[in-house]
Amino acid sequence: MKIERILPFARTLLTSAVNEGDTVIDATVGNGHDTSFLAKLVGASGHVYGFDIQDEAIQNTSERLAKQGIEQQVTLIKDSHSRLKKHIPTHLHGNLTGAIFNLGYLPGGNKKIVTLSTSTIQAIEQLIELLAPEGIIVLVIYHGHEQGQIERDDVLHYVSNLDQQIVHVLRYQFINQQNNPPFIVAIEKR
Ligand code: SAM
Repeated sequence: MKIERILPFARTLLTSAVNEGDTVIDATVGNGHDTSFLAKLVGASGHVYGFDIQDEAIQNTSERLAKQGIEQQVTLIKDSHSRLKKHIPTHLHGNLTGAIFNLGYLPGGNKKIVTLSTSTIQAIEQLIELLAPEGIIVLVIYHGHEQGQIERDDVLHYVSNLDQQIVHVLRYQFINQQNNPPFIVAIEKR
């Protein structure tokens, strides 16, 4: 298949916006796959700030990074991404080049603990402010579970109304697949 699938495309977008030495955000670290990807992308001279509200996610991610010897490139923060801005040093405001959200629940964890539209939207709002020009926020939206459908609708409503003078908003989605596969919303700051 020539059309890029959802998860690889999320990484293609991040790779296009993020360079070695940059500072980026993983807003939902979970088991740390994206945190590790971002840490390698920014390298030893860059930095990743990773957020999750669950101890289990912080622990799993911390172990994954340590195994790969890249833990010094990452700061893991056990807090909601809705309070993201206060954890990012002021001199980095306006300088972040990338951020990723994988919405939904922790794979292998408690399926009742999910991302929620109010905090997701608060985090996006702050990130738009913190991004550098041409910085990108990638949201991978999982809408197979009940709360996920509410979050999908609320997030789509919010991003569709963002000012086009400030951001470009893309939706990337296979529209003939069964069982609500995830799709991407990408927001690029102008
Ligand atoms: N990208 C991850 C990976 O590579 O394994 C998967 C992330 S998982 C789909 C979603 C994560 O978001 C869960 O670990 C959950 O605890 C976390 N989460 C839920 N609400 C959150 C919030 N308000 N702030 C930060 N993380 C949150």
